[in-house]
Amino acid sequence: MNFIETRGNDETRPKTVTFSQAILDPIASFGGLYVPQTLPELGEEFLNKHLKSSYKELASDMLSRFGIDIEQSVIDEALALYDNFDDSSNPVPVVKVKENLYVSELYHGPTRAFKDMALQPFGVVLSSIAQKKNENYLILAATSGDTGPAALETFKNRANVRVACLYPDGGTSDVQRLQMVTEDAQNLKVIGINGVFDDAQAALKRLLASKSFKSALKEKNVSLSAANSVNFGRIIFQIMYHIHSYLELVRQNAITMGEKVYLNVPSGNFGNALGGYYAFKMGLPVEKIIISSNENNVLTRLFITGKYDIKGESVIGTTSPAMDILKSSNVERVLYDMFGDVRTKELMDDLEVKHAYTLTPDELSKLQEIFDADYCNGDEGKKYIKDTFTKYGYLMDPHTATCFKSYETCSNPEIKTIVYSTAEWTKFSPVIANALTGEVDAQDIVALESISKEANLEIPAMVKGLFSKKIVQDTIIEKEDIEKEILKFL
Ligand SMILES: *Cc1c(COP(=O)(O)O)cnc(C)c1O
Repeated sequence: MNFIETRGNDETRPKTVTFSQAILDPIASFGGLYVPQTLPELGEEFLNKHLKSSYKELASDMLSRFGIDIEQSVIDEALALYDNFDDSSNPVPVVKVKENLYVSELYHGPTRAFKDMALQPFGVVLSSIAQKKNENYLILAATSGDTGPAALETFKNRANVRVACLYPDGGTSDVQRLQMVTEDAQNLKVIGINGVFDDAQAALKRLLASKSFKSALKEKNVSLSAANSVNFGRIIFQIMYHIHSYLELVRQNAITMGEKVYLNVPSGNFGNALGGYYAFKMGLPVEKIIISSNENNVLTRLFITGKYDIKGESVIGTTSPAMDILKSSNVERVLYDMFGDVRTKELMDDLEVKHAYTLTPDELSKLQEIFDADYCNGDEGKKYIKDTFTKYGYLMDPHTATCFKSYETCSNPEIKTIVYSTAEWTKFSPVIANALTGEVDAQDIVALESISKEANLEIPAMVKGLFSKKIVQDTIIEKEDIEKEILKFL
């Protein structure tokens, strides 16, 4: 299958590209994105066929229906990484919280957050493409906490790929920082900067666009790439867990085959939700996809009013920082799917120039046929964490908690809901400890211990071990020195 562009073609780029090309060079004409030319029809026949399949069998068959230009042996190697999740026979457990409400836990991978679902296999795929082309890639990442650890973990010691990961010193949780600075591999460089996440992100964008930086890399025989969440190489691995979660409900006799369910997704850059939308388009029986946000509620406003408006706004820091976002990039792929490339370009140009776009009433009602949305603030989130734990014994993180508000406000309780849980409690422990016990401003290690006691849960060894692991990445610099530091590393 080939990939085409969300904003049309500018006559200088190819009109269609392969999956590998879309991975290596993810930005299409006019700053658009690549999307599959058609989506495979899976439908009930596919669902029935995979009722007894393992996660890997389901994933492998789904990938083969996409007809991507990646050899089966590479796909097998990529999917084998799910064997290292907590339960090798089921990397994504789906847990019943109460009548009609289920949680699909996407965080059982090595870095305890859902970024592993896509980045784990993506690392193998990208490295294999680079080896095949006999090229070396530098992956640049800027992280506020979850993407960095997951990118480092997946590319660690992989051939033909190096990673430079920028994080704001003091701007991540202790667990997130330790996951990065204890990563010991020749091909990884972790750089703390004196600044905030926006400084790291701005530096990354500057480097990605810099001709002089690119030519300095070229002298070292290295090309530049980014593993950000608009890359279709990541999106493709975010479709199968929606199908898997549905099948889990069938297996648990919670639903009968064909019965529609809500997918409720804590959303930031919209990769997770887009995976659900594609699964729906491919035939998954979905009642609605509910988009949950925090105080940065630009998506809620879009799905309720048809207006995407970020004029004069800045990002608000919240207790669910992985969803602190103004420009939610993957929404563009839904706009393209519903309204075509000409209209998508028009809307995206408006967003660029006027910092806002407005859908027509017809377009909005089309969007609302499948999407609904609400947002949840930090205090409400903490209340959902506490109440859900007290009433049902289920402990969740602050990102997941945003779904419990929209569950109440957007869905018919008679219809089953799958909430997607994107992080383990260990990753955002100070907020959770505060929600459970009222304890404020605890360090991660203190908060982990108090939650462990309160909820009678063991701190996973891989998290506990971080606090005594040797720190090997100790570079902390001013943002002006980033380029020099990266060139030194290469
Ligand atoms: C990245 C992330 C999200 C947001 O996912 P998107 O696919 O960008 O919408 C939500 N929760 C956590 C914990 C994350 O790391």
